[in-house]
Amino acid sequence: MATHNVTGATIFVDIAKAYDTVDRDFLFAVMACLGASTGMVNWARLLLSNTCASVQVNGQESAARRTHAGVRQGCPLAPYLYLFVAQALSSWLRAQPTLGVTVAGVRFVSTHLADDTQIHLSDLSTATLTNLTSTLAAFGAASGQTINPAKSKAVLMGRPPAGAPPTTLGPFPVVPGVVSLGIPQPLGTMPDPPPAPARLTRAAAFPRVAHEAPAAPAHVQTTLAARCTGLLAALATVTRLPFSTFGRAFNASAYALSTLLYHAEFTRLPPQLPTLTPAIARAVAPHIPPPLLTGRPREGGFGLLPLREHILARHGALVTRLLPHLLQPPPPPPPPLTTLQRLWRWLVQVLHRLLGSWCPWSVAPAPPPAPPVPQWTVLADSLLRHCFPTVHPAHVLLAAAFASPAAVQQGILDMPDMRQACMLPPGPLTTMLIAMHALGPIAGPDPLRPLLAHAAPAMQELEACHWPSPGPHHGPTLVTHGPVPVRDLTAILNAPAATVRTQRHLAFIRAAHAAPARRDLAPQLGAFRTALRAAWYTPCSNTVKAPLWCLALDALPGARFRPWRCACSAAPPVPSGRLHSHWECPVAQAVRAELTAGLPPNTLYTRAHVWLLDPPSPAVHPAVWRLVCMAAVAAMDHGRRHLWRRPVAEAAGVVAPAPAVSPVQAASTAAASHFWAVLYEFTAGLHPVPAEWTTLPPDGAFVRCLNGGLVVVRAPV
Ligand SMILES: [Zn+2]
Repeated sequence: MATHNVTGATIFVDIAKAYDTVDRDFLFAVMACLGASTGMVNWARLLLSNTCASVQVNGQESAARRTHAGVRQGCPLAPYLYLFVAQALSSWLRAQPTLGVTVAGVRFVSTHLADDTQIHLSDLSTATLTNLTSTLAAFGAASGQTINPAKSKAVLMGRPPAGAPPTTLGPFPVVPGVVSLGIPQPLGTMPDPPPAPARLTRAAAFPRVAHEAPAAPAHVQTTLAARCTGLLAALATVTRLPFSTFGRAFNASAYALSTLLYHAEFTRLPPQLPTLTPAIARAVAPHIPPPLLTGRPREGGFGLLPLREHILARHGALVTRLLPHLLQPPPPPPPPLTTLQRLWRWLVQVLHRLLGSWCPWSVAPAPPPAPPVPQWTVLADSLLRHCFPTVHPAHVLLAAAFASPAAVQQGILDMPDMRQACMLPPGPLTTMLIAMHALGPIAGPDPLRPLLAHAAPAMQELEACHWPSPGPHHGPTLVTHGPVPVRDLTAILNAPAATVRTQRHLAFIRAAHAAPARRDLAPQLGAFRTALRAAWYTPCSNTVKAPLWCLALDALPGARFRPWRCACSAAPPVPSGRLHSHWECPVAQAVRAELTAGLPPNTLYTRAHVWLLDPPSPAVHPAVWRLVCMAAVAAMDHGRRHLWRRPVAEAAGVVAPAPAVSPVQAASTAAASHFWAVLYEFTAGLHPVPAEWTTLPPDGAFVRCLNGGLVVVRAPV
């Protein structure tokens, strides 16, 4: 209306008890008039006949009374029936020529939503208003609908009227605006409700902003990238050299990773880590799943350093070095000297100056100074206090274990009930927070947690203090037991790999015993681990040991192909290459024949005796049997490789002359020879003979100690 330069008003009409006061005869007449069929009108008549109502006051229901007007409240048909009444009102209003607003050639008289009625006026003269009042009165008399002027409102619309705006339009008071059907009318004229007093919540005070984790400075990134390139070059060298799997893992850890580790200790985790870790695993042993390459060899691993875990452990170790300084209060100052002591001190100093070394007295030696606090500790302490002024600095570091990973990456502590003053700028402290988060809560169910037991009391006491405010003598007096070794922290972080290894070992023991799934193998696991540990210390070449280590983890080359098949024959594919190649294959059986020949006559042995390094007879020395088992597994693996040599060459397009004997025969001979070759190599290369091996019985199987030297016995005499 304002756009079309029209002045007018809208009357928001309130009909008192609209549904309850409808005159039914009026309703039926309107229905018939608007074209409802006789049948429909009769159905409506039937619906609205014999209506009763009762009222309930304080739980007491009155007697029912007949009602003679209105549609049924709550009846789903009632709104539709009422629309006939609203249509009658609309038509009646439209029949009055002075009512309505004409905008762009269209005349709008009224709008209706059930009993909610708005009447539009452009002529606000007394005659029109009188006409409106009488029109509504006539409608009321006909339909039983009574307009309630006190609850009806008039709102001026469009261009403001010339002169002072009226306060009433006929019986209707003029108001600046109304809320009709939940919408303020006219739009935009109603003042906004006053804002609720703002409650200062943590979220309001410190809105969550998803920051990108800040990048390391450019020079750090450049140096890290150079280190990573150097690491890959060193790995290539390690791969070229003739090492065992253990040797490649050791050399990769010590020679290739060390330079990056030194750098990463003082910076964050290198962003190249996701590509580096698989590259390292490929260089060491491409056929072994990367997590199984880590861990100590005496526990069944291959000794590769878990790069990510180790870097995090170094950062975690920095925390454990920082904590004792943060938790211990500064030493108390020495007591002041009395006047007499000061006088005597001065006197002695004067005499010293006059007499030099002739002076018979000496100043009492000053107490030894307290060991200086490292400068980085002072810096870290002040930075933590600056960023988290309401939290004890030590608690900031420990609390990172409970925060969310995204927050910790940005140096933010996301703790309940903690006001966040600031986040830590990127740097060593942020890397420490990340490390603490990776290590997790200090007191957990993990059996490795006691390694951090010295930090647990600190945590408990700090929690009991309810986030203390730092003061001049802040914080509890705690004694910590110093830093936690990086090795222990690495073990905590690398625990998932250890779990995988344990599961593989259990599956290996189950396969060796052909044990049912529900049998408890925990005791056998302990015995196997003990034997494996002893086997690791056998002074033979690591290339002899590696096949057994791989066999126990089911990580042999080609073992990931399913279904697995052997080159020995056209036998159907077998489910487990491990079982076939290292026990059932004709090539493996050739090695077993050598074992049987070497053992005392009538010694029965099973797969479990060989695979789990368990001596089958008291006549066999355990150390010798461990060597024999490792040699047997290595020989079987040698035979397996020999067997595959020809198919692999043919697949590569190399045509070799046909062998004189069958491939299985040739591989079996090679495997059996390899077994004895390992034993001969061991005895020949051992000078001087270790103490454990000098006690071998002179009549034992396989290896004997004679005249201070070791000899191999191919068959008992
Ligand atoms: Zn086979």
